[in-house]
Amino acid sequence: MNTNRREFLTAATSFAVSYALLGRVVFGQQKKPTRIILLGTKGGPRVGEIGRSNPSTLLLINGVPYVVDCGYGTSKQLLAANVPLNQIRSIFITHHHSDHNLELGPLFYNAWITGLPVKVDAYGPPGVANMIRDFFSYQKFDIDTRIEDEGRTDPRTLLTAHEFDKPGMIMSNDDVKVSTFLVRHPPIKQSYAYRFDAWDRSVVISGDTAYVPELGTFAKGADVLVHEIMYLPAIEALLKRLPNATRLREHLMAAHTLPEDVGRVAAQAEVKTLVLSHFVPGDDASITDEMWAEGVRKHFKGRIVVGKDLLEI
Ligand SMILES: [Zn+2]
Ligand SMILES: [Zn+2]
Repeated sequence: MNTNRREFLTAATSFAVSYALLGRVVFGQQKKPTRIILLGTKGGPRVGEIGRSNPSTLLLINGVPYVVDCGYGTSKQLLAANVPLNQIRSIFITHHHSDHNLELGPLFYNAWITGLPVKVDAYGPPGVANMIRDFFSYQKFDIDTRIEDEGRTDPRTLLTAHEFDKPGMIMSNDDVKVSTFLVRHPPIKQSYAYRFDAWDRSVVISGDTAYVPELGTFAKGADVLVHEIMYLPAIEALLKRLPNATRLREHLMAAHTLPEDVGRVAAQAEVKTLVLSHFVPGDDASITDEMWAEGVRKHFKGRIVVGKDLLEI
């Protein structure tokens, strides 16, 4: 056995021992480490034939899934990440653009239709309760038929909306505390970032936002910051082909964050790892990972991960 391998084995063994002790001594029982899996990393509602899926981020905290945003395709992406849909218990919506909420009702429906008991809590800014009610109305015929014909539980009793209209702590349990921060995403006033302080790791998800220096304070000391990003040169090229170019450019500039500013926020927050996600544009293969990261690196010297669908951090 060479020295490197022996050292590795020694380190691995002592890690396993200390980890086991940590699990027993500090928490009374062994907890599973927190996992972050990017389900969809493309900003915007357009559905692509190939490439990145619409936005959604999964946290597995002590083995329990917490889904942040449900763009189109979230159910499929959860299955691709080996998460059975009936395990979903909590869904968090950052804001009410459809690339973040289109599959809220369908995701719950897909969990319900597995036939196993599910009770799901959906958190988000005002509008979540109406959206759920309207979804059940949209699928009323199917739901009533299946309750009658197949003896299913009424799904309307299983999905609960929890709305908030100001930042703060929104839920906590033995594994995690979840808090929110109001970001800047005009014209939408109620747009939030989420912070998950899990038992072993802190994770902040920016949601959609323009540059907000205060987000650096909210994310202070987090292990991982997942932040949206917009690449201006590609936007400019894209806009040249559109009739509503001026309006669209104004919206994008006011509502999203350029790479340099993403770097500023991450540096101010002093996070260990910055994960880029919600790419705008998210379907331009000519933008390389290096092009996404280049501007960010001017300000942030930590680890930068250019997100991909189903990548685990
Ligand atoms: Zn978005
Ligand atoms: Zn948005």
